[in-house]
Parts: sequence; C-alpha cells; structure tokens
Amino acid sequence: MSLDGTYDSANIFAKILRGEAPCAKVWEDDHVLAFMDVFPQSRGHTLVIPKGSTARNLLEETPERLAALMVRVQKVAQAVRAALNPDGVVITQFNGAPAGQTVFHLHVHIIPRWADQPLGRHGGGQMADMAELQDLAARISARIE
Ligand code: 5GP
Repeated sequence: MSLDGTYDSANIFAKILRGEAPCAKVWEDDHVLAFMDVFPQSRGHTLVIPKGSTARNLLEETPERLAALMVRVQKVAQAVRAALNPDGVVITQFNGAPAGQTVFHLHVHIIPRWADQPLGRHGGGQMADMAELQDLAARISARIE
C-alpha cells in the first residue's frame, strides 16, 4: 500500500484496539495504546498507536493527535529505558509499503538497543513467546511515570 489509499478498519492494530485480537499490553490512556511487538527486532520492542484515529501513517494524522502520540512515545520510551537499561533506543516509524510499513494504522516503534547485540530484521524474524512478552510488558508498565 502506497501513501494513497483508505483506512482499513480490519487491520490488526484496529482489531487490537477493539479487543478483537490479543496483545501484551504495556500501558494505555485515552489517547494511545502501547504494547509489545510480536516480531521484535530486539528484546523490549514496543509499539505505540493512537486511539480514535483512522490515520494510516504520520502524514495523515491530525497535529493534535500526533502531538499527543509523540509525548506518550517519549513516556513509554523512558519506561523502556528504566525497565531494561538499554545502551540506546531507536524510535522509528514507516510511511507506505515502499518505506517498509506493513500495518496501516499509524504506529511508532520503540526499539531498545544493546551495544553488543545486532538489530533484528524489520518485518521479519521469529514470533516472540507470549509469556516472555507479557513479562516484558509488565516490567515496562511498572516503570511508566
Ligand atoms: P510496520 O512494518 O508497519 O512499521 O510495523 C508493524 C509492526 O507490527 C511490525 O514490527 C510487526 O512485527 C508488528 N506486528 C505485526 N502483526 C502484529 C500483531 O498481530 N501483534 C503485534 N503485537 N505486533 C504485530
């Protein structure tokens, strides 16, 4: 899907938001839901998505919702750092399939990095163990301020 198109309410993140698909939830408020990526590029790879939005990507989001999202991305990234003590944190976001986007509900990746560990492939790799994701989610959630 390129940058042009319409929002598909059957996308997996819309299903997660409606409670129709499971996720390892880290945190939510009225504006966003944060949960673990099931194909993590590193241990603790977390996604943050806006609620009440039909923006497929950052370019389509309203300034108000985008501002609310990014403030919360910072909050969750701080919790990821506090919980997992990484050496660095990648904050990334893809717009359109040619740019690497695979799920077409706006989302931001928080990917902790350790100096001695390679980054996993985006959109590939092994599905994580759900119990391990739930444990990571609980650890990050406990450090949300
Ligand atoms: P994108 O490629 O659109 O930037 O990122 C989509 C992300 O969603 C990928 O990192 C992928 O691993 C993740 N993902 C795909 N399907 C699911 C799912 O069913 N649950 C969760 N938690 N993450 C998913």
